[in-house]
Amino acid sequence: MSELRFGNVRAAPGERSVGSLTVGELDQLSFARGQIELPLIIANGRREGPVMLLLGGQHSGEYVGMEAIIALTERPDLEVLAGAVVGIPVMNPYGFAAKVPYVCPLDGLNMNRLWPGSTGGTVGQRITYGVWNQIMVHVDYLIDMHGGDFPEHQADYAIAMAVGEEAIDATSDAMARHSGLPYIRRSPVGEGDAPTGTAAKMFMKLLGRPAIVSELGDAGILDADRMEKAIAGVESVLRLLRMLPGDPTPPPADQLAMTSRTALLSPVHGLCRMRVSLYDRVERGQVVANVYDYVGRHLASLSSPVDGVVVQTFFQSATNQGDIVMKIAEVMPA
Ligand SMILES: [Zn+2]
Repeated sequence: MSELRFGNVRAAPGERSVGSLTVGELDQLSFARGQIELPLIIANGRREGPVMLLLGGQHSGEYVGMEAIIALTERPDLEVLAGAVVGIPVMNPYGFAAKVPYVCPLDGLNMNRLWPGSTGGTVGQRITYGVWNQIMVHVDYLIDMHGGDFPEHQADYAIAMAVGEEAIDATSDAMARHSGLPYIRRSPVGEGDAPTGTAAKMFMKLLGRPAIVSELGDAGILDADRMEKAIAGVESVLRLLRMLPGDPTPPPADQLAMTSRTALLSPVHGLCRMRVSLYDRVERGQVVANVYDYVGRHLASLSSPVDGVVVQTFFQSATNQGDIVMKIAEVMPA
């Protein structure tokens, strides 16, 4: 692979280099000044091939993806890697420092709704714009690493978008299936969707290249088992794409596809007591949670609207009216 250069990082063939990407300035803020810099790693293979971009840490508590990206750029034998792996482990350094879920604390926005960003906008808009224009438009594949953020337990799954272009959609679907996760979710990209969106969705929609989202880990926990799964899953995808030698790991025989995902909202403020746990099978009509007031009086029961699997729970007892308590997915063999 010829020399690659992004940001201030230059990687010769067979070389792993680290540095940073400057994506803008904090000049719109009265209390903060300076450049917005993101960590950047390039693992450049000796052989010619495509460029895979791994994004992590758009959401602050999703540590499995961040650490997996660092490991994934350290592990491959660069003598046999065909192409390059580019990693941005921490996309939201301000959220990382503040340890707040979902948003960048300097603008209060969910960065993964802002792609492809805008110059001169909020911090999140500048970060997404910088990464989009300096890196995203130059790479061939994207894996956006997520997981359940601080307040969530979440099932491990991969999301494959579909933009209606057969070859691109088939590659994305195969990437998701070969990532080794127990569930996949196929997500069509609609024509009438908002002009900005998630990194994976906009990468497929605007650039016409394959992308998946990996959802692995949760609750702000860096657990070794899920990190190994994340690493093995991406390496399997790199083999599928012929960037690493050998065959990809076949999809798990019992892999399931989520065909719907329903959020259950609390109708009242109170203390929520869960009746089910992550990965539990539930039946339509089954009471899955109850909400009580501060002295233990029952206020409301939440029932599953479908026969399905609990794929996400928000485990804090405190629940406000309209808060999501859990998500339940209908599933079928993938
Ligand atoms: Zn996330």
